[in-house]
Amino acid sequence: MGEVTFEFGTLIHGRQNQMGTFDADLNPDVRNATTNADLTLYIRINFQRIDPAPGGPATYQDYDGTAVPIRAWRDAEWAQWKARFLRDCRNKWHGKFWLVTPATYNRLNWPAQNPTHRCNLYCRFEIAEQGTTQGAHAVIPVVHVNGNHFFRSHMLLYSNNDLRAERLTRGSNFFTHVHEIGHLIGLDHPGTGRAGCARGGEAICYASADGDDRGVMGRGSMIRAEHARPWTRAASIFTGVAQANWTVSLARRYPQRLDGR
Ligand SMILES: [Zn+2]
Repeated sequence: MGEVTFEFGTLIHGRQNQMGTFDADLNPDVRNATTNADLTLYIRINFQRIDPAPGGPATYQDYDGTAVPIRAWRDAEWAQWKARFLRDCRNKWHGKFWLVTPATYNRLNWPAQNPTHRCNLYCRFEIAEQGTTQGAHAVIPVVHVNGNHFFRSHMLLYSNNDLRAERLTRGSNFFTHVHEIGHLIGLDHPGTGRAGCARGGEAICYASADGDDRGVMGRGSMIRAEHARPWTRAASIFTGVAQANWTVSLARRYPQRLDGR
């Protein structure tokens, strides 16, 4: 995980269970005239299976403090839930962005001698289960709700229901786990800081200034250029090029020819 490349090293960013936590590496070795360098964010999750204690209460306090009825996980459904969580998050966050290298930065040029191309960064996302709390970016208890009850989850507390699509806005489904992993890597709601978004739960917090609430950090699951910020942050630390100088593309950008053709 996070192999050390001689040139750029490995970045370990943030602290366990805090927003903005990930490992990253920048691998220049894959690049050529048609292939960019890889910028990979790594996330390791320690899932904690919450079953009711024998003789104890068969409830668990959700994020709102409500004691919600829970039941024990079956082994197969627990394994399936974790696998689906990881698969969904990787599908949603992996391979969505290209960071265009500014012309002022030459260390991604290819080949090293007499370079013909300036390579960009391809943004990868790798998420895996970590069997122990040590080395995990997040430690997440997960309950199985017993019956049809609402369970308020959170970046560090999930229920079995959190993989379901929810219809919170027109034209895009919302997925709690995909959204919460966005928080873990450091993304906030699009309306954070706007007037009227004071406590963080108001409707205005989930929409950008132009009213868009279909983004993955709003009420939908659409990926926007602004969601590349964890990658531009890592790129900036690796290269010394300011975050704002990386142009985010949602479409593939091939290495640029240095002769301008
Ligand atoms: Zn949120």
